[in-house]
Amino acid sequence: MDADLIVVGLGAMGAATAYQAARRGLSVIGFDRYAPPHDQGSSHAESRITRLSVGEGPEYVAPVARSHEIWRDLEAATGVELLHQCGSLIVSPSSGSGTDGRWTDFVTATEAVAGPAGVPFHRLSTAEIQSRFPVLLPREGEVFGLEPSGGVVMVERAVSVQLELARELGAVTHTFEPVIDVEPDDTGVTVRTATRSVRAPRVVVTMGPWLDFAPLEDERVLSVTRQVVFWFELDDLEPFTTDNLPTAIWAGDRIEDYLGVFPIAPGTRPALKVLGEQFSETTAADTVDRSVSPEEIADFHERLVAPRLRGVTDRCHHATVCLYTTTPTEDFLIDTDPRSDRIAIVSPCSGHGFKHSAAIGEALAQGAAGEEPTVDLSPFRRDRFSTA
Ligand SMILES: Cc1cc2nc3c(=O)[nH]c(=O)nc-3n(C[C@H](O)[C@H](O)[C@H](O)COP(=O)(O)OP(=O)(O)OC[C@H]3O[C@@H](n4cnc5c(N)ncnc54)[C@H](O)[C@@H]3O)c2cc1C
Repeated sequence: MDADLIVVGLGAMGAATAYQAARRGLSVIGFDRYAPPHDQGSSHAESRITRLSVGEGPEYVAPVARSHEIWRDLEAATGVELLHQCGSLIVSPSSGSGTDGRWTDFVTATEAVAGPAGVPFHRLSTAEIQSRFPVLLPREGEVFGLEPSGGVVMVERAVSVQLELARELGAVTHTFEPVIDVEPDDTGVTVRTATRSVRAPRVVVTMGPWLDFAPLEDERVLSVTRQVVFWFELDDLEPFTTDNLPTAIWAGDRIEDYLGVFPIAPGTRPALKVLGEQFSETTAADTVDRSVSPEEIADFHERLVAPRLRGVTDRCHHATVCLYTTTPTEDFLIDTDPRSDRIAIVSPCSGHGFKHSAAIGEALAQGAAGEEPTVDLSPFRRDRFSTA
């Protein structure tokens, strides 16, 4: 064998896995088709929303809570800021109505998870929103919930820090070297690239939006969609910093009305980061249109930003395309390869995986090391989709 563990794809999930395996003393070989952190997959654009009150379901609380602990440990070890707990605000259209996806009645869904998990999550009135966050423009009928312990986690920094530590601990990473085959047999798994072939008893496949590559036919349950992230210039930065503004998940009546708001964290672009969501047009990582047109920018600002935020100009500082890879229920898919339980497969987690990635990587590394995982990943097995 060439290593104890091979990691295919070194983005959010793969970097966490490689780091956690290396710190357990496993020998690790990692491959990536680019050199992470990069802007071609799902782990770029500075920041991600994190919240312990995960309205998507109670099974998501443990991985995000453990990830917060790991990020705080990484910050202490490296001095790099990764987590800003500026609060996480959820806005739903009037209770009971609204979006046709994950955000339907999301304040109520979040409350249902927060209460039993003991996570503080408070409803706020329209007047409280207006006085605490004057740049937000609440609309009639909307309901609000705030989790003070939510906030933003820094994406590229988290990937970098974990990869650097993994390498310091002995992990060997091959960048710009795509894996073209992962083949199990009775004694191990062979991983091939155009120039080499290596073997290990265990392999973790964390290929993000490229997960639909040939040997993994059954993962075609996943669909890839183009999402655009915008940064708009501000009249005054101060009210929009992590000191003064929480993140916002701002749902509307339809999925196209969704707005995500990311306050300005220290060391990031001096502009407000916002995004929407779309699931109607699917794409592929290698063929997606990565350009963002002036019309797309103007439409987004007019439709979603101007009616909801005060002091955000229509001047676009920067825009980028990022990829969601979703399952039919928008839940995670983390399981072994149907051909062999020596191969773990991790989906890019349907547009809400980053905040859980540190703990997912830890659990995968613990599995490879023969340890009991700190966080149980069994709720995310593929059989939940056959019954969905
Ligand atoms: C716009 C946007 C907003 C989001 N917002 C949030 C949020 O607020 N909160 C949250 O928790 N999550 C959020 N997410 C989701 C989160 O970012 C993803 O769940 C997470 O980043 C996925 O990480 P990954 O490691 O699976 O994929 P990636 O980070 O894309 O990593 C996959 C890696 O595999 C490599 N690779 C691919 N093919 C091969 C191959 N053949 N051989 C070797 N390497 C290969 C790629 O180069 C890449 O580096 C968001 C995602 C997007 C796109």
